[in-house]
Amino acid sequence: MQSKEAISAEDMKAQRDLARRQLDELTDQVARNDDKMKRTQQRELKLLQADDLDSLFSALSDGLRTSYGLEYVSVVLCDPDHDIRHLLLANGTPAEGFSNLLIRESLTGLAPQYIALHQPWLGAFTACDHQLICPGADDIKSIAMIPLKHRGKLIGSINFGSNDAHRFTRDHASDFLAHLGVIASFSIENTVNRARLMRSGFTDVLTGWNNRRYLSVRLGEELARARRDQAGVVCLMLDVDHFKRVNDTWGHAAGDAVLRELAQRIESQVRASDVAARYGGEEFVVLLPNTEVESAKLLAERVRQAISATPFDLPCGDTVTVTVSIGISEVHPGPDDKDLKTIGDSLVARADVALYAAKSAGRNRVVVEAA
Ligand code: GH3
Ligand code: MG
Ligand code: MG
Repeated sequence: MQSKEAISAEDMKAQRDLARRQLDELTDQVARNDDKMKRTQQRELKLLQADDLDSLFSALSDGLRTSYGLEYVSVVLCDPDHDIRHLLLANGTPAEGFSNLLIRESLTGLAPQYIALHQPWLGAFTACDHQLICPGADDIKSIAMIPLKHRGKLIGSINFGSNDAHRFTRDHASDFLAHLGVIASFSIENTVNRARLMRSGFTDVLTGWNNRRYLSVRLGEELARARRDQAGVVCLMLDVDHFKRVNDTWGHAAGDAVLRELAQRIESQVRASDVAARYGGEEFVVLLPNTEVESAKLLAERVRQAISATPFDLPCGDTVTVTVSIGISEVHPGPDDKDLKTIGDSLVARADVALYAAKSAGRNRVVVEAA
C-alpha cells in the first residue's frame, strides 16, 4: 500500500513536471510569436507611415532586408504606363537610384511563378527562374516571392533571398509574409496616389498642403454654400514673422523644414471641414465655414500659441522659436449676391489688411478686421 502510494506520488510528480515543461514550452512559443508579432507590426507600420515613394521603396528594400536579417531583397513592380517611374523622376529620386528596385512594363517572362502568384511562393532559388527578378544576387539558396497586388491584380512582388537553403521552403507557413504583402501593396497604392496628387496642381509640393489654386476653387464653393444656408465664412491669413531671418541664419533647407512643421501645427488645430492652404511663400490661409468671428478668434489664438510655444527643430540640430501674425476677416453673402468671385477676393484682401495691422502692432498677434 505504502509502495503503491509512493509510486503514484512519483507518477503524479512526473506528470506535473511534464505538464510544467509543456506549459513552459508553450509559454516560450507564445512569447516568441508575440515577439514576432510585435516585430511584424513595427515593420508594417514603417511601410504604412512612409509618406513618399522614396521612403517607401527604401523601407521595402533595405529596410526589410535589415529587419529580417536577409542576404538579399528585391522589389519588382509592373508599371505599364511609366507612371511610377515618372513620379520618381519628378521627385528627383529616379528608379535607378534604388538598389534592387525593378520597374518593368510587364511581368511576363520575368519569372515562371508570376503566372499564378496568389500566395507567397517559397522554395529553392534557381538562376534560370529567378535571376531576372534578383539581379546581382550572389549565393542565394532559397527565395520567398511575396505577391503585390492592386485591386486583386498582380502588380509585382517583394523577393526575399537567403543563403540558407532551409530558410524558405514549401513547408514553411507563409501567413506572416502574405500579411506583409497586403500591407506593402496598400502602402504602394497610397503613396503612388499621394505622389500623383502632388503633381496634380492643387497640392503644394513642399508641405503636401492644398495650394492657392485649390483655395480659390474651394472659396467659391464655400461662399455659394454660405449664401444658400445664410451662414458666414471666416478667413484667417497667417504670415510667419521675420521668416527671412530663419533663411538667412540657417539656410533655405532649414526654412523649408520650418514651413513643413508649421503647416502640421496649423493643421493640428483646425477641423476637417475647414479649408487650409499654403497661400504663398510663408503665408497660409484657413477658411472657416459656418463660423462666427468670436470663435474664429479663439481658434486663431490657439494656432498662434501652438506655433510660438514650442521651438522648431532644425535639420542641423539647432532649434528656433517662430511666431506668426494672423489677420481675420468675415463675410455673410446675401441671397442676392451674384459675384462670388469679387466677394471672395475682397474677403482675402481684408484678411491681408488685418494681417498687416497685426504686423504693425508688433507681430505675434491676432487682429480682426475693423468693423
Ligand atoms: P515679416 O515679419 O514682415 O513677414 O518678415 P519676413 O521676413 O517674414 O517677410 P519677407 O516677406 O521679407 O520674407 C519672406 C521670406 O520667406 C523671403 C523668402 O525667401 C522666404 N520664403 C518664401 N517661400 C519660401 C520657401 O518655400 N522656403 C524657404 N526656405 N523660404 C521661403
Ligand atoms: Mg510674407
Ligand atoms: Mg513673413
